[in-house]
Amino acid sequence: PIGTHCRLRTGRSFNPDFVVSDFKPMRRRIIVANWKMNGDGFMVDEWLQILADELPESVDFQIVVCPPMVYLDFMDDLIEDLELEVQLGAQNVSEYTDGAYTGEVSATMISEFACDYVIVGHSERRRIYGETSEVVAKKAKMVLENNMKPIACVGETLEERESGQTRTIVEQQLEAIIREVNDSEINDIMFAYEPVWAIGTGQNATPEQAQEVHGWIRQYLAQVDADTAEQVRIVYGGSVNPDNARVIFEQPDVDGGLVGGASLDAEKFLEICMS
Ligand code: PEP
Repeated sequence: PIGTHCRLRTGRSFNPDFVVSDFKPMRRRIIVANWKMNGDGFMVDEWLQILADELPESVDFQIVVCPPMVYLDFMDDLIEDLELEVQLGAQNVSEYTDGAYTGEVSATMISEFACDYVIVGHSERRRIYGETSEVVAKKAKMVLENNMKPIACVGETLEERESGQTRTIVEQQLEAIIREVNDSEINDIMFAYEPVWAIGTGQNATPEQAQEVHGWIRQYLAQVDADTAEQVRIVYGGSVNPDNARVIFEQPDVDGGLVGGASLDAEKFLEICMS
């Protein structure tokens, strides 16, 4: 640890990944808040306070919040003070270990905070910053090597969907990641199906559209290992809100959500979690 703000990950005392039912591990629903480049210190405080006040003590879902990187430390302190069962994630990471990469943050640095997850391959990173599937795969590997879990985003554009390429595109994006990591590491990846045309547009995928692609993703992973495919969590992202969350999350291969816009409002986010 260097300096007063920097310390090693504390690790939490609960195992959030599974609920045990009939002696069989079942995929636990997980809801991830992606704040993108929004929020400030006041919002961090207020948002967590609302969760502390309104989140029931024992819930059957897991919450991960991904604020902008600079708030991770502050958020971690507050989560501990408030004794919240909420985990932290970063929104991005460098594909390099260290060196002359001005403005970048390495996986090792992120892991020094109580960060359990890192989003990789969000479509905004792919589109605005030109990240290729190969770069995304390297980032996923870095996250795994630093004992965190990548939330690996895949999804097609509207044009690709309309020209019948959804499955091919999603499989290409998956393939790059599968090629980069060891088979035994796939278990530690969470996948997010995020159709690009549904992100921030108010036009969510229908439950049937989401289930179809989630099913393909699980089938694709089953080619590597059937047990892994059964255990891996695949969440849906794209204009999830309190009105559509329940029907989407009820789909058999949808294990929760990655929520952008609606996660900025703690009350709305809680409604989504509890739908
Ligand atoms: C996202 O940013 O990952 C996302 C799904 O955004 P929104 O919920 O606003 O569509």
